[in-house]
Amino acid sequence: MQRYFDRGMLAVLGVLLAVTIANGVVAYHNIRDLFEARVRVGQSRQVQHALQQVLSLAQDAESAVRGFVITGESAYLEPYDNAMAASPARLERLLELVGDNPQQQADFATLRARFDAHAEEQATILAIRREDGFEKARAAIAGGSGRDRMQALRETVSRMTIAETAILDERARASFRSLDIARASSVLAALLGMAMLGALMYQMRRILLARDRVATSLGEQKELFRTTLASLGEAVLTCDTAGRVTFLNAAAESLTGWSAARAVGQPIDDIVRIVDPRTHVPIENSAQAALRDGRGVPIANRGKLVARGARPERPVDDSAAPIRDADGNIAGAVLVIRDITERKRSEDALLDADRRKDEFLAVLAHELRNPLAPLRNALQIVRMAGDNRAAVEQVWGMMERQVQQMVRLIDDLLDVSRITRNKLEMRKEPVQIGDVIEAALEMSSPTVARYGHQVQVDVPAGLPPVDGDRARLVQVVDNLLTNAAKYSEAGGRIQVRAFAAGGEMRIVVKDTGVGIPPDMLERIFDMFTQVDRTLERSRGGLGIGLTLVRRIVELHGGTIAARSEGPGRGSEFEIALPALARAPIQPQPDEGGDIGIATATARRILVADDNADAADSLARMLRMMGHEVKTVADGEECLAAFAEFQPDVVLLDIGMPRMDGYEAARAIRERWGRRALLVALTGWGQEEDRRRAREAGFDHHFVKPAEYARLARLLHAAPEAEAHA
Ligand code: ADP
Repeated sequence: MQRYFDRGMLAVLGVLLAVTIANGVVAYHNIRDLFEARVRVGQSRQVQHALQQVLSLAQDAESAVRGFVITGESAYLEPYDNAMAASPARLERLLELVGDNPQQQADFATLRARFDAHAEEQATILAIRREDGFEKARAAIAGGSGRDRMQALRETVSRMTIAETAILDERARASFRSLDIARASSVLAALLGMAMLGALMYQMRRILLARDRVATSLGEQKELFRTTLASLGEAVLTCDTAGRVTFLNAAAESLTGWSAARAVGQPIDDIVRIVDPRTHVPIENSAQAALRDGRGVPIANRGKLVARGARPERPVDDSAAPIRDADGNIAGAVLVIRDITERKRSEDALLDADRRKDEFLAVLAHELRNPLAPLRNALQIVRMAGDNRAAVEQVWGMMERQVQQMVRLIDDLLDVSRITRNKLEMRKEPVQIGDVIEAALEMSSPTVARYGHQVQVDVPAGLPPVDGDRARLVQVVDNLLTNAAKYSEAGGRIQVRAFAAGGEMRIVVKDTGVGIPPDMLERIFDMFTQVDRTLERSRGGLGIGLTLVRRIVELHGGTIAARSEGPGRGSEFEIALPALARAPIQPQPDEGGDIGIATATARRILVADDNADAADSLARMLRMMGHEVKTVADGEECLAAFAEFQPDVVLLDIGMPRMDGYEAARAIRERWGRRALLVALTGWGQEEDRRRAREAGFDHHFVKPAEYARLARLLHAAPEAEAHA
């Protein structure tokens, strides 16, 4: 009861019930009173009627007797006989009717006596007429007491009638009273009933409205729930305690291949089939486990989901939890599944990248070690050669090549690290592609020469310049040329072309070498990717050259594409760079050409480096170039030596104990002004490092190992220090 009606409603219902019962009781009594009053009124009327009848009987008898007396015809006696026959019953009836009224009963006795007396008189007159004839009879009538008797009877009837009328009045009033009471009580009951009905309806309305509100908000919640579940990326299914699907969202539909319409009501094991990826044996459904154990099944990758139809199996994460009703009883379970194909793929990709990195490190170690063996041999040869200059010179070229190879590897590595940190910087200026190709040809010439390739160059004059970093563009073309040389059988042909096309400068490097399989054409630009590792080992390389090439080209707003007809059929690389509007180019200062020791101007050079070997070997080389050199091991020593030695040029290492290169440079500039040329020698070649060096007062910045030729040019061009000017 309490569940359906609240207290207000119950109170109203109770009152209504009480009013209805009370009304019933009152109405019953009223109706009974009314009925009784009516009966009594009727009874009084009957009494009056009966009195009149008794009087009529007496009159009828008297009239009949008079008729007989006058005529002597017995036919006139018929009404007399009838009246006499009916009178006992009539009187009895009257007695009955007045039975409840003592006064009337008493009067009835008088009435009866008087009636009987009158009847007796009539009988006497009748007998006289029969026996003594008319005259005697007439005399008897005239002299008798007939008139008085009749009068007395009339009086009694009249009194009784009046008394009965009074009773009747009283009864009629009582009847009206009962009617009034009945009317009033039923009006009251009706009013009360209506009021209670109103209250009931109000309560009902309140309850229904509240119920409506609850239903609406329940509906809204349900809808919110449904749309939330539907918009989830995860597949969500629910099942009942028997493990039959009760709901699945859109994600679940597309993941399992089952439409909600078909899946609902089916065993969840049939809809969600997760199998062991290796054995393909079905794994227990997490929803079933949650139903069985009554607790959540944590998210985990248990296997692969086999969808309906011919869809591929997908690795999934799943988790489940029991659904409990308001009383805490398990009402079903919810299963959440997530497609982790993408995650798996990126995990695999990471693993692959990791593997490639490991391979790369192995290749790197190998590539760095490669030049060391011939260098060590060369050192041994030099030591053993003694004064045999010819023997030393024989290994010279080889040592230079090997060192060059190592420097290049390390430069590339540094560039790669810059690429990954997005720190590769371009210093752009208008650059002539012809110059770039020339410089690249020169750089790659040792490798090209080693394999005995033929190079054909086709660069027309008057090509538009490009806005680029000259050194980086040289690095690009050099890389392509070196690759063309490395990946061609000895005696191949390499073609280099440059031409302008539609606002772009194109550079094409083509070879007749081993070619590239079609599936590798894109991938060779990826870091650490090499087509054939076994081959690479003998050719030297880390699989990063083309990565650098592409990045540099992109930083110039250009593109690069590789083409090959396939293995053994040569390769072609084409670069497109946006061309600048044709503008006269400042003739570049001639940087080419070696400066021999003999042509060098003798300088006083102070070398500061905490690495004694580096300092000594550099000093030795400079002395051989004809300069006067002094070495020191740190900044402080450098300052002390400067005052005394008065150098034209100071070559300063940056990272030194006690006082580093920057500090020393600042101190020199402070104390002696611009008297000497200051050159920084560091392992760090970033723009940031160059800027710091400039700020500290350096004139030049060389990345170690400094190239002999560049250093020689610089020393040649350096103005002599003021002290020696
Ligand atoms: P590396 O030459 O150091 O291995 P690169 O990034 O320069 O690295 O080149 C990547 C790979 O592309 C090379 O290992 C080689 O397999 C392939 N490749 C590059 N250039 C050529 C070419 N001209 N002919 C054939 N294969 C080439």
